[in-house]
This record gives sequence, C-alpha cells and structure tokens, in this order.
Amino acid sequence: MTTPLKATSVPTALAIRQFVDTHILPQAAQMDQEQEIPRALFTEMAAEGLTGLAIPEKYGGTAVDYATLGAIHEELGRGYASVQNACTVFGMVCKPLARFGSEAQKQKWLPAIAAGRVIPAIAITEPMVGSDIAKLETEAVQEDGQIILNGRKKYITLGQIADLFLVFARLNGRGVAVLVERGTPGLQIDPMRGLMGLRANMVAELTFEHCSVPVDNLVGKIGFGFTHVANYALDEGRYTTACGSVGLAQACLEQSIQYAGERFQFGEPLRKHQLVQKMLSEMITESKAARELCAAAGRLREQGDPAAITETLVAKYHASKTAVHAADHALQIHGASGCMSGNPVERFYRDAKIMEIIEGTSQMHELQIARTFRL
Ligand SMILES: Cc1cc2nc3c(=O)[nH]c(=O)nc-3n(C[C@H](O)[C@H](O)[C@H](O)COP(=O)(O)OP(=O)(O)OC[C@H]3O[C@@H](n4cnc5c(N)ncnc54)[C@H](O)[C@@H]3O)c2cc1C
Repeated sequence: MTTPLKATSVPTALAIRQFVDTHILPQAAQMDQEQEIPRALFTEMAAEGLTGLAIPEKYGGTAVDYATLGAIHEELGRGYASVQNACTVFGMVCKPLARFGSEAQKQKWLPAIAAGRVIPAIAITEPMVGSDIAKLETEAVQEDGQIILNGRKKYITLGQIADLFLVFARLNGRGVAVLVERGTPGLQIDPMRGLMGLRANMVAELTFEHCSVPVDNLVGKIGFGFTHVANYALDEGRYTTACGSVGLAQACLEQSIQYAGERFQFGEPLRKHQLVQKMLSEMITESKAARELCAAAGRLREQGDPAAITETLVAKYHASKTAVHAADHALQIHGASGCMSGNPVERFYRDAKIMEIIEGTSQMHELQIARTFRL
C-alpha cells in the first residue's frame, strides 16, 4: 500500500467509528500484548485523516472543528486507548507547530506528518522533573548558529519509533522548544518496556549528549518554550485525553452491559440484580456527564474563548476519573473472568489509570482549577 499524500476526505466521527471497529478493535489485545502499534496502522490512520487532525488544510491536514475532534477521540478511546493517546501526541506536536513554528518548519514537517510519513513525539518529562515543568533541567546552549542540547527525557510516547521530537529545554534559564530529528548525532533513544497501561505507546527514554541542531529548529521565541509552546500543547492534549477517556468509559460500559446480559447467577442475568444495575447506572450517568463537559470545553475552544482552558481542565479531570471508575465497575461486574489477561476489561482497568497521570495529574488539575477559582 502506498502512503497517500493527503487523506481522501475530512474524517467524521461516523467514518472513524467504522475504522475503529474494523482496524483498531480487532487488534487492540494484540497491540497491548506486543506493546506496539504497527507502523502500518499509522499509514492506514493517515489515509483516514487521523494523523492530520491538528494540521491546517493548506499543509495537507484535515483540521476538524473541536466538536468533531472530540467525537473522533471518543471513538478512538473506545477502540484502544494507546492508539487514542498516540493521536493526542500528534495533536500536541502539530498544534503548536502550526501556531508557533516558522513557515519553513510548517512546510517541511506538517504535510509529512499528515501523510503518516513522519511520526512525531513530544518530550517534556525528565527523570527528575514531572509535574513541575518550569524546573526542566535539559540544557540548551546557542553557539555558531546551532542549539546544543544536553539532558534526559523519560516516558516519551512513541519515542521508540518517532522521527521527530519536539523537545523542551532551558537556554540561559529561559524555556525553549526545539525540533530534533531521529538520527541526530548525540540523541540516544532507549525503549522503556513494562508499562502497566497504554502499553502499546512505545515510550522511550531520550538522552541528549552534545546534540546539535540548527538554530532554525527553535519553535517560537526564546523564552516562549514553557509559557507558550508547552502550555498550548498540554491544553490541546488535555482536551483529546478527556474525550478519549469518555470513549474508554463507554467501552467499559458496553462490555459490562453485554456480559451482564450473558452471565447468569441466582437464576437471573447479572443485569437483573439491582446492585449490578447500580454500577451500570453510575457508569451511564458519569459517562454522560463527562461527555457533556467535553462538549462544553469543545464549544469554548471553537469560539477561542479564554475560559476554554479551565473548562478543558475540568473536563479532563472529570473524564479521566470517570474512566477509572467505569473500569473499576467493569472489572467488578466481570468478576474473576475480568481479572484474566486477554479479557478487555483487564486492559481497560490498566489503561484507565494512566489517563489520570498524563497531560497533568489529577492533583495538578485540582490545583489549577482551585487557582482559577481563586480558592
Ligand atoms: C503512558 C505514559 C505516557 C507518557 N507520555 C509522555 C510524553 O509523550 N511526553 C512527556 O513529556 N511525558 C510523558 N509522560 C509523562 C507524564 O507527563 C508524567 O508522568 C506526568 O506529567 C507526571 O509526572 P511524574 O510522573 O514525574 O509525577 P510527579 O510530578 O513526580 O508527581 C508524583 C505524584 O505527586 C503528585 N504531586 C506532585 N506535585 C504535587 C503538588 N504540588 N501537590 C500535590 N501533589 C503533587 C502528583 O500529582 C503525582 O500524584 C507519560 C507518562 C505515561 C505514564
């Protein structure tokens, strides 16, 4: 199969639902087991427009409105959380690149990413710095038209296969965002295996040792790295992670309703027992509430309303907790069978917890929400 230069049509949630059912769901368990998303799937996703969701049309993307973006991520989350999170990372690189990148950077990278030829990754987290990103230790030095990087990054999604890294560092104490291509001398990539959930995210540790790139690889101004580029990326990532979490909660619900109809105890299907109904009712209610919060955030994002940042924090906070609660109920409803590897709810349980950690932990969300409301 040849890589298309551009998706054949603008993706819709319905088209992606069909794609998820035929291309993602059937191989989710295998991807989880093998801790890998096959490169071929990225090519197929590119043909559906999924790799270009955050890329303007003029650069070969399929930029969709926020309501559609949310609905698509919900479908992806229903299919397989690792694939959904991979698409989140595409957005977290492309959205800031489209906004803060130079024209040359946009022309070089965005069409290639949209076409699935280039896989991007975003490198913020370090061994000693997680939530407190203002304290990043990776150092950048400007010398003879080059930026020289020294430092380490950890837990970088898609790091094992990414062709392009958006790396955050400190230059004379000021935050910078720098594009680093795979294969650049001084960049070492070490795969990290054994993740509890999102196991197919192919996370890696990156080591920069006198890794030199042209100064033209800076994305945005010196000093804008953390305040503008990283925060913009994280805000975008929170929205799609929130919507993906709703999809994961929906998958828990659908799997549980099916099982509760098939499994009989005390002469009746589980779904007829009121305490099981209570769990299913909670899952239904909480998923609906989380979906509405995502929709509210999406509407404000579409309008460019500054309140969208807080609404997105609230949506991500609630939706990730909803996914965790739904996965907990799903496992409970499945009893021992849900505890076996290979049962989807066992995977949902592992994947859901990660949603409370990525793109800012729940505690960071609580602190930021409290700050917004001047508590
Ligand atoms: C599957 C996966 C994929 C990831 N992908 C990427 C990626 O692509 N790129 C990337 O850069 N990073 C990535 N990460 C890293 C992720 O962003 C970090 O794990 C996250 O930011 C939290 O940092 P930390 O794990 O170092 O936790 P820490 O910051 O060390 O926090 C540990 C705990 O302490 C709490 N805590 C910290 N400070 C406070 C405080 N002030 N008040 C109250 N509680 C506090 C936290 O909420 C958390 O519960 C990934 C992580 C995972 C698990």
